[in-house]
Amino acid sequence: MGVEGQPLSFWLARFFIGLPEIVGSPIYLEVLPELRAYRGELLSGERATRGNAVHAASFLRERRIVVEDALLNNAASLRYILVHELFHFVWWRLGNPSRRSFDMLIRKEVRVGIRGELGESSGVAKSKLQAGDCEGSGPRWKNYVCESFCDTAAWFYGDRTITALVSLPRRRIANRELWLAAQTGLRA
Ligand SMILES: [Zn+2]
Repeated sequence: MGVEGQPLSFWLARFFIGLPEIVGSPIYLEVLPELRAYRGELLSGERATRGNAVHAASFLRERRIVVEDALLNNAASLRYILVHELFHFVWWRLGNPSRRSFDMLIRKEVRVGIRGELGESSGVAKSKLQAGDCEGSGPRWKNYVCESFCDTAAWFYGDRTITALVSLPRRRIANRELWLAAQTGLRA
């Protein structure tokens, strides 16, 4: 299997170029045909007859990332999505002070009515928010902050040619980039 004519191993070796140092136990990567998320389960191939189509999924406790095989035809999308999934593990291990600080950044954006995102996942999570969610820390809000974090990383460390996913105003992008660049000692 390969990405745009290169073997997958060649491409994965390049994946780490430009990423910050992230320490942690191995995370396994699985490539499967057509993926759908249905009631907390990931269905693939012939079983993927219901639920929402997804490009990838992460299983934090199993330390496993599953990506859809069609992504291997597009190195830019694959990088963007793999960084997003990798940063789900980083968010999990980030620690409360950093999580709170990122949460405040996102809360400010929502409170002043900033529109736009740095990816599809945070856009979907934001569309599920209800009035008052940004005043508390319920599951919808937590999910939105987490997806915003992973989309921010995917933009910052991913392939910036995927501008179609970017609708956040430039100044806000710069704020998020500054925040992310200041993070050191990342674990996954
Ligand atoms: Zn995500």
